[in-house]
Amino acid sequence: MINYIPQIYPDELVYSLFCRYYVHSGCVSHKAALSDIFCKRSDNPSKEFIGHLNADAQNQIEKCYPIKELILKNTMFPQYARFIPLSQKEKAMYHFEFEYCDAHHLFAILPRTDADGFLRYCPLCVEEDRQKYGEAYWHRTHQIRNMQICSKHKCYLEQSEVTAKSEKCFTFCPAEEYCKVIEPRIADNADSLRYAEYLSDVFNSPLDFSKDIPINTVFYYAMADTPYMKSSGKTRYTKELSDRLKAYFETIGINDIASMYQIQRVLLGNRFDFSVVCQVAFFLGISVTDLTAPQITQEQIETEKATHTMKDKEPINWQEYDGELAPVLEKVAKGIYYGTANENGRPDRVSEKMIYRELELSAHRLEKLPQCRRIFERYSETYEENWARRVIWAYRELSEQQKPFYWSDIRLVSGVKKKNIGKVIPFIEKYADKSTANHIISIIGNIPL
Ligand SMILES: [Zn+2]
Repeated sequence: MINYIPQIYPDELVYSLFCRYYVHSGCVSHKAALSDIFCKRSDNPSKEFIGHLNADAQNQIEKCYPIKELILKNTMFPQYARFIPLSQKEKAMYHFEFEYCDAHHLFAILPRTDADGFLRYCPLCVEEDRQKYGEAYWHRTHQIRNMQICSKHKCYLEQSEVTAKSEKCFTFCPAEEYCKVIEPRIADNADSLRYAEYLSDVFNSPLDFSKDIPINTVFYYAMADTPYMKSSGKTRYTKELSDRLKAYFETIGINDIASMYQIQRVLLGNRFDFSVVCQVAFFLGISVTDLTAPQITQEQIETEKATHTMKDKEPINWQEYDGELAPVLEKVAKGIYYGTANENGRPDRVSEKMIYRELELSAHRLEKLPQCRRIFERYSETYEENWARRVIWAYRELSEQQKPFYWSDIRLVSGVKKKNIGKVIPFIEKYADKSTANHIISIIGNIPL
């Protein structure tokens, strides 16, 4: 049971609040703190969101901070939900507030580049926070993808040793312990600085839950009278836009520059990625207000929609598309297959539907993408094979805890139903070494089928 809730600091991640709870509550172990806060043994703390709270923790926290406020002000929700359609945004909020659901099911969370792989901090914020609050904490604005500079102190952010991923990570890493005292590196590139401020301002602007103005419509009107759109408004010159944008951001030196197809999908309303949208908007000179609270009429939305069916749309170069998408698909499929991209770390079955959703592809597109198709086939498996891998994974997770465990524990952690266990046995040896397989089968062998 949670025994006290620390005061949350401005722009602090909820994860950071829980880290401080762990430090100050007198919990004897990470495990004790985890069970105070979260629902199940297999729940890990979420770095970007709140995680699966148990009823008691939820009640205690709600007494101090409304969950909705926390989501909006102390998680990375605005990064993922800012530009998605209103109905999807409302659904995501509902699940975070009332009915826990893995964030990966609510919006696209793209794989991270290596540079975005760790929690970041600003050495001057750390100094300030220590003076003001007596301890450092993880700021969420520093964790925005592609964020390199603290716009408050105009110095470069430093990378900690703490992974930004939540999966398979069952520990609390408080900023106070992990932020080193470092001489700040002052940011002197005016464009980089402006871009960091832009990202921060867009991220921190209020989220609109009343109007539903598609981001592609905002871009459509912002591109009129630019070299990136035919004066008739019927054709967008995406290649030209993408080439110039890339050249520009190379001078700024951000980690992950939007590709042509990412830009194209955003312009046509099939994608809403925060980082891609911000790059395009910044490059086109759209103000933060025009981007986050656009004044666009329903009629203008309809006009833009009509341009999608125009015949002179830029044709897709499938071969180039295939080559660009293949490494992304590899990363996504691998993450799902081995579980590293899944909130609970459990190996999942890679289905075609999942791939279409994660990559936001239209139906049957894989048929036109031979490289991607091959990758997908490499990761495909039957349900029985997946159950076997899950059972082995659960066995290894439980073994690490160095406590006796039983079939019921394996079943709980793996999520494989009792009625299916008979179908799993033939595949256990395929994925585990002999002694592991024998041990698992002996545990399973003790249960009446
Ligand atoms: Zn700072």
